[in-house]
Amino acid sequence: MYPSLADDLAALPALLQSTRDYAVAVLAGLGERPVAPTPADVPAAPLPVDGGGTAGALAEFQRRWAPGFSGSAGPRYLGFVTGGSTPAALAGDWLTGAFDQNGSNRSGSSAAALEDETVGWLGEMFGLGPAHTGAFVSGATMSNLVGLAIAREWIGEQRGLSVAGQGLAALGPVPVLSGAAHSSIYKSLSILGLGRDALRPVATRPGREAVDVTALTEALAALDGQPAIVVANAGTVNTVDFDDLRAILALRERFPFWLHVDAAFGGFAALSPAHAHLVDGIAEADSVCVDLHKWLNVPYDGAVQFTRRRDLQVTVFQNAAAYLPPITGTPDFFHLTPENSRRLRALTAWFTLSAYGVAGHRAIVTAAIDAAHRLGERLTAVPGIELLAPVRLNVVCFAVPTDPTTLAQRIADSGEAFLTPTVYQGRPALRAAFSNWRTAEADADRVADLIEKTVR
Ligand SMILES: *Cc1c(COP(=O)(O)O)cnc(C)c1O
Repeated sequence: MYPSLADDLAALPALLQSTRDYAVAVLAGLGERPVAPTPADVPAAPLPVDGGGTAGALAEFQRRWAPGFSGSAGPRYLGFVTGGSTPAALAGDWLTGAFDQNGSNRSGSSAAALEDETVGWLGEMFGLGPAHTGAFVSGATMSNLVGLAIAREWIGEQRGLSVAGQGLAALGPVPVLSGAAHSSIYKSLSILGLGRDALRPVATRPGREAVDVTALTEALAALDGQPAIVVANAGTVNTVDFDDLRAILALRERFPFWLHVDAAFGGFAALSPAHAHLVDGIAEADSVCVDLHKWLNVPYDGAVQFTRRRDLQVTVFQNAAAYLPPITGTPDFFHLTPENSRRLRALTAWFTLSAYGVAGHRAIVTAAIDAAHRLGERLTAVPGIELLAPVRLNVVCFAVPTDPTTLAQRIADSGEAFLTPTVYQGRPALRAAFSNWRTAEADADRVADLIEKTVR
């Protein structure tokens, strides 16, 4: 064994202890760490020849890289939609590395069965029925990609061919209809060969990001019976608007389409009694995307992909080989997603659900919604600031009297908070998205004070 590997093996308890001590210090300082620093350039280091062992690597990391890392796991990082990591999720993440299971198949380990259990728990929590099966993927983009890949195969089935076997050329153009689709839907369509241009944006309701169901009906009618993919949005990033899933589902009586629901973070509305109606009908969708590294507060990366057509999913993603177990019974995970070998991402979610249950995660969701409302109320009272939409869930989207990008930078430079600029219905704006388990009402007040002071 290489000498420093042998030394590290001998000293493993002490090395893990010092890594743990450092992690504890980082987490203890999270509230004070600059939330989103503008990192100084780190001069490139040469490829290490001998290496400094774990202790040397830890010292180098602390010296060169850690100072520029953000406080995105902390309570006032309100950019994009960013969660943190609950204590249990972090413990699960450490053990994911310690056990280092390959979650791709069911032979020789119960890891895949743990993933099944976790997917089942999540499905129940999000109000999906037994008809949905699921698999872990790295994020909502991958979840959307997999859902749309199954949708593509379904379109082939409707036309009497298999895209997985015959390729896209056999399929021809596929109409994809959506109101305010997330950018990752376009990316997925590009990867899948359907093309970004396949997406035909459907009008949204006046002043809203929710699809106009009358316009959707007309768009479907214009297809003359041609099967289509409809991407419904359950939580848009700017204003957390929700398509009316029940009304869209009713259209299935008249038109053939695959319904994919992008519920990346909006799916968590199911946990809040006051908001669960927003995702009513989701159990009848053909495929559903939910992100976990946002509002479940597991560390990156993790999301789940649900579908009612696992048979088509296997048709697309099967990875048969002589040295691998055959596809019988419950398919192995490498027959379900783009990866073959994969880390046991489910363990972080399993830990946090085991530790806090639905009730604990409901409390995280409702606290974030309350914080968003608090910030919304405070900002309404600031002259020159205008909320561009009511606070529907966990995001505040607002116009400011100065350039939002400059203001966002000044807020970031304060080290106290991080918000991201956007454009909503043609208006440059700022958004503050709440999804971190640590965020308290006092944080919303601190951010409101900061915005008030900075905007002047
Ligand atoms: C965040 C988000 C995505 C993409 O998620 P990643 O985890 O970054 O891949 C897709 N759709 C919606 C609505 C989102 O909010």
